[in-house]
Amino acid sequence: LPLLEKTDRALLSNQRLLTGCHSGKLLEVPISPSTGDEWLVRTVQQIDTDISVDYLDGNTIPISSIIKAITTEHESLRSLQSSVAQPPPQGGSEWVSELSSILKTASLPVPISGISSRLRVMAPKDALGCNSDIAILANTSAPSWNLRSPKIPFIGEMERHKFELLRPDVPITRARHHLYHILNCCSKVILIDPSLDKSTPLAPPLEEILDYCTPPVHFDPNSEENLGPRDIKQLDGILLRNMKNSSNPPLNPSAITIPLDVELQRDRERRQPSKADSEGYLPTEYRNRVISFDYDDLTRKTPEGVDNPRNSTRWPVIGATSSDGKNSVTIDPRPFTPLPSGSVVSDSRHGHSDGATQEIQLWSPSRLQEWAKCPRRGWLSRGLRIRDEETQSEDLDPRIHGDLLHQIHHDLICEVLGMEEQVERDISGVLDGHFPTNLADSDLEEQEVMQKALEILDKLAPWLERSDGVSTFRLRMLTGMSHSEWKDWLANPVKAPLGGRIGAMIRSEMQLSDSMPVALEWEISNGSETGSEISLNQNETSPNQIELPPIMINGKIDRVDIIPFDNEGNEWLDDSGSNEIAPLRLFETNDWKPRRRVIIRDLKTSEKKPSDRNKEGLLNELQLAIYSRAWEINHPGDLVVGAGISTIGHSTEHLVEPSGNHRSELESLSVGTTTSLTSRLHRFPDESANPKSDPFRAWMAQRLSVALGVAHGAVEGRVHPTPSKSACRYCPVSSICAVKMEDDY
Ligand code: SF4
Repeated sequence: LPLLEKTDRALLSNQRLLTGCHSGKLLEVPISPSTGDEWLVRTVQQIDTDISVDYLDGNTIPISSIIKAITTEHESLRSLQSSVAQPPPQGGSEWVSELSSILKTASLPVPISGISSRLRVMAPKDALGCNSDIAILANTSAPSWNLRSPKIPFIGEMERHKFELLRPDVPITRARHHLYHILNCCSKVILIDPSLDKSTPLAPPLEEILDYCTPPVHFDPNSEENLGPRDIKQLDGILLRNMKNSSNPPLNPSAITIPLDVELQRDRERRQPSKADSEGYLPTEYRNRVISFDYDDLTRKTPEGVDNPRNSTRWPVIGATSSDGKNSVTIDPRPFTPLPSGSVVSDSRHGHSDGATQEIQLWSPSRLQEWAKCPRRGWLSRGLRIRDEETQSEDLDPRIHGDLLHQIHHDLICEVLGMEEQVERDISGVLDGHFPTNLADSDLEEQEVMQKALEILDKLAPWLERSDGVSTFRLRMLTGMSHSEWKDWLANPVKAPLGGRIGAMIRSEMQLSDSMPVALEWEISNGSETGSEISLNQNETSPNQIELPPIMINGKIDRVDIIPFDNEGNEWLDDSGSNEIAPLRLFETNDWKPRRRVIIRDLKTSEKKPSDRNKEGLLNELQLAIYSRAWEINHPGDLVVGAGISTIGHSTEHLVEPSGNHRSELESLSVGTTTSLTSRLHRFPDESANPKSDPFRAWMAQRLSVALGVAHGAVEGRVHPTPSKSACRYCPVSSICAVKMEDDY
C-alpha cells in the first residue's frame, strides 16, 4: 500500500471495498506498512535466503549478499538525507523511483567463486527467466537433448495413458517452451547445427525452427580458407601432438596432457612393487609405493611355508607374489598416499593440489566407505555431490527390494517380540516371561510366522497384487507364490507354507534360538546431534602407530542381539560385571568383565554366497567394526563378542565372526553360523609374532584405524584416485574419471 499514490491508497482504504456483500463482515487483511521503508524491511524479512541458496550454481551472487548490498545503500542514503536535513519520501512514486535508482546503481559483491564472467553455460530449462545479449545454442543434437519420458516400474503403456502419468509428449512440449523462451530472451541467437554429420541429427524442437533462421554459415573442412572453428581446433590439436606450434594457443595449456592421464596411471600401477621377500610378504620399505589393491587380496589363503599375518614377524603386512607365483594375503592397507609424479600439471589433477580440504563434522559408515574405496570417488560423490544420472529401470530398484525385505524382517520381529524400531528393548519384560526371547521361543509355528510376514508384505507392497511381469516376478521371489495363489491368500489370509526369500528368512531366524534381539535400526549417536566419538590410542593405529584425530559418527545398526552366559538360556545379564566401557586391549586387563555379551548384525540383501558377503563386510567394509565399538562406547559393561553379515537372499544365513575368547561358547549356542576370518589375520600393531590379544578386538582396532586414516586423509584434502576393478565397477562418477579401471566382461 505505501508504494501507491495517495489517492489510490485512500481508495483502497475505503471500508466498503473490504466488507462482504452477503456476510457484511470485514475482510481480514494484514496491517499495511505505513511507509515505503517499513515495506522494504518487511519484504526483506520474508525472503528465505537459506532455501534460495540451494538453487544457485556457485557463480551467482547469493540472494543474501544482494539484499545486504541494497539495504546498505539504502541506509547510507537515509543517513545522508538526515545529515542535510532532507526529509526522505514516505511512499508513492517518489519513494519507488528512489529505490529503483538504488537497485540500478548498487554495486554488488564479487561471487564467492571469484568468477564474474558475463558468459553463462546453462541447460535450456535453467535459462527460464534469464535474458541476455546473445544466446548460443550448442550441443544441440538429438542424442544430447533427451526427450523421452522416464519409465516407471510396474506401469505399462496402457496404464500410463489411462492415468495420464508421464505422458510421452510432455518432454517435447516442455522443450519447446524452453526453446521459445530462449528465442525471446535476447536479440540474437546463434545455433550450432551438428546435423552435417548424419550421426548427429538436430534435436526435434530445433529442427522445427530451422525454417525461421537466417541462411546458415557453412564451414568446409576441406578448404583452407573456410575452416570451421572445430576444424581449426582439430588441426591445432594434431600440430600440438606432433610437438609443433599451433596456429592459436590452447585455451587451457594444462588440458593438453589430460589424454595422458590414463597411460600415466596404468604405468604407475604396473610399477607397483609386487615381489615377496623371504617371509612371503611385500618388504616394508615398499609399502608407500603401493597405490591400489583388489579386494580378493584381503581374503587369500596363506601359501604353504608362509606365516599367517597374525604370527608374522611384522604387522600389518601387504600381500605379494613369491618366486613360485603364489600370492599372500593383505591386511587392508588403506588409506593410500601416492607420491606425486613430479609433473605439476598432472599431479594437480590427481589430488596433489590445494583446495580440496574437507570440513566433515559428522561421518557415517557409508560416507567413510566411499572415501575408503577411492578418495576421488568420495570427494566427488560425497563432497561435491556429483553423480551420474541414474537411469530408471523398468524392474524394481534393487535398493527398494532390499529395503522391503529389511522392513519385513524388522516389522516381523517387532510384532512378535513386542519391540519398536530404534528403541532399545527393555529385557526385563523378557526375563519376566512376558515376551518371547526370540522368534524360535515365540510358540508360533513356522507357518503362522509366515502368515504374519505375508500380512506385513501386503501392507508394505500393495502393488504386488498387480499382474504385470515385474510384480509377478517379485512376488514369486519374495513368497514363492504365483499371482493367483497370492490373490487367493489375500481373500483368505491363513497360515502359509514357508516360501521364497521371506520363507528362507523365517527359517534362518527360527534357528537363532539362543540369541535375543535387543535393538533394531539403533542410532549409534544415541540421540546426540554431534554423533558418537570414535578414537584410538596411538599404539592401536596401523601401520605406523601415529596419532590419528578422532571422528564423530552417526548411522544405524541393523540389529543388535545379546547372548546368554549359560547354555540353557537363563542368564542374560551378569550383575557382577563391569560398569565401564570395554577396553579394546582387553588382554591387558584382568579386572574387566562383561555385564552383557553382544552380537552386532548387519543385514544385507544379496544374491552372493553368504560367506562371501560376510568376508566383504568384515575385511573390506568398515561399518561392522564402527557399529561394534559405538555400541560398546554407548553401553558401558557390554562386550561385543561377535559381528557379522546376515544375508537375506536366495541363501539366507546369519554369519558371526566370534571373538577369540568366546569362540567355543558361540559355537555351542544357536546364534548363527560362526566363521573364522580374523583369527589368522589380526593382532595389535605393537604386538610380536606371538600375540596375546583377542584377534577379534585387534580386527576392530584395525578397521577403526582404516576409518580414522581415511577420514584424516579427507580432512587434509587428499583426493587422489585409487582405481581398482571393484572400486570403479559401480562408481557413481566413473563417467567423468579418466583413470577408471575397466571391468572384465
Ligand atoms: S572411476 Fe575409479 S578411480 Fe575414478 S573416481 Fe571412481 S573409483 Fe575412483
